[in-house]
Amino acid sequence: MKVLKFGGTSVGSPQRIKHVASLALERGRNIVVLSAMSGTTNSLVEISDYLYKGNIPGAQEILNALEAKYDAVVEELLTTVGARAEALKAIGRSWDLIRGFFARGDRRAPFTAKQEKEILAQGELISTALMVAHLRERGVRAAMLPALSFMRTFDNGEPDMAYIREKLSVLLAQHADAELFITQGFICRDSAGQVANLQRGGSDYSASIIGAVLDLEEIQIWTDIDGMHNNDPRFVEGTRPVGRLHFEEAAELAYFGAKILHPTCVLPAKLHNIPVRLLNTLDPQAPGTLICNTAPDGTIKAIAAKDGITAIKIKSGRMLLAYGFLHKVFETFENHRTSIDMIATSEVGVTVTVDNVERLAAIVDELKNFGTVSVDHDMVILCVVGDLEWHNAGFEARAVAALGDIPIRMISYGGSNYNISMLVRKDDKVEALRRLSANLFPV
Ligand code: ADP
Ligand code: ASP
Ligand code: MG
Repeated sequence: MKVLKFGGTSVGSPQRIKHVASLALERGRNIVVLSAMSGTTNSLVEISDYLYKGNIPGAQEILNALEAKYDAVVEELLTTVGARAEALKAIGRSWDLIRGFFARGDRRAPFTAKQEKEILAQGELISTALMVAHLRERGVRAAMLPALSFMRTFDNGEPDMAYIREKLSVLLAQHADAELFITQGFICRDSAGQVANLQRGGSDYSASIIGAVLDLEEIQIWTDIDGMHNNDPRFVEGTRPVGRLHFEEAAELAYFGAKILHPTCVLPAKLHNIPVRLLNTLDPQAPGTLICNTAPDGTIKAIAAKDGITAIKIKSGRMLLAYGFLHKVFETFENHRTSIDMIATSEVGVTVTVDNVERLAAIVDELKNFGTVSVDHDMVILCVVGDLEWHNAGFEARAVAALGDIPIRMISYGGSNYNISMLVRKDDKVEALRRLSANLFPV
């Protein structure tokens, strides 16, 4: 058995839902994880934003538009009066839940993060209800596996794998005659049993967790492109799919900005050694990308970029032969629960980068106890990924040389066998990505 995850674009219209149903059916008795239809989660976020601000008409307007959109989807997707009525009733429960938060006047209580999570969960609940209704109309014995009945996280947000395995196994056994299983990506319950989620884009994570706990044959991530490309196709022309990646390489690329894969998705697959295949719903025959624990040696595979980076430099006159300086620096970040992406050290100072600036002012304030602190905002990490084990001489020189006259704020190499990271200004990002492609992947 495999797990097949289809993203928002893949189920973005009634035609696409039908197409995904056919694709899934052709591949046998598997578990299908669905995202919300594209745009829906963004609309639900927008509704929540209005509710936080107490702007009920704003929220109402977005909800009305969503409702009209889904009325049309039901009309086009389903053919029988009974199936349409049933689907509208199921979807109507989502609208009722959201409207329940529209209380006005004196009765208006502040909108909470817990309520927002309930609202955000509706997109996946709706897309899966539509898929099951469609499959049943086609005469398929499709079983719904409600993610809210099995997907659970601990307080720290990590999935409770043992619980998920146990609940999911029971659910599967209850549907012994099912031809296809459908479940929601993204949504889960927290340790207190409240509706929660696995972060934006987290449906990939859902699929990976399911694949891992059930020790499935393969985790397939179906999206709108034919696999992991060797550079970000949103900024660089002529990118090409990478046939095979090591888990570590995929993890680096996902973490450093390759949107096709959610960064959390790689670990469960890697730990359970389950291959992940990235496939294109719009071109199902394309080979895509296979991610597993072996990959071709001696090559650079791909480039990614991570935006919104801040570099913090701490210069200490006393660092010369001093031990404990780095410890104090790292402890400061730890105390503020802020993780560090890149590090560069010298005898007189250290620069680190962060993507979370929530605690920046307090961190800088504290670091001033140990040295002179300066901050560079609006930076981007460029990440060159491949078999970059240090004996493979010359790759780092090519990566740096490719940037030519683009100023590089810092470089990190040798931390793993798979990556060279370079920090540049946000404004240089696109040109830097293009130059890297032109130099590292010549046509
Ligand atoms: P889904 O909704 O199916 O989860 P996403 O939008 O999250 O899809 O991810 C697919 C998109 O990722 C592609 O359309 C592409 O624009 C973007 N992307 C960014 N970097 C890469 C890359 N290196 N290879 C392929 N796609 C990438
Ligand atoms: N629907 C969610 C989102 O848009 C989860 C996902 O698509 O992976 O973020
Ligand atoms: Mg995605």
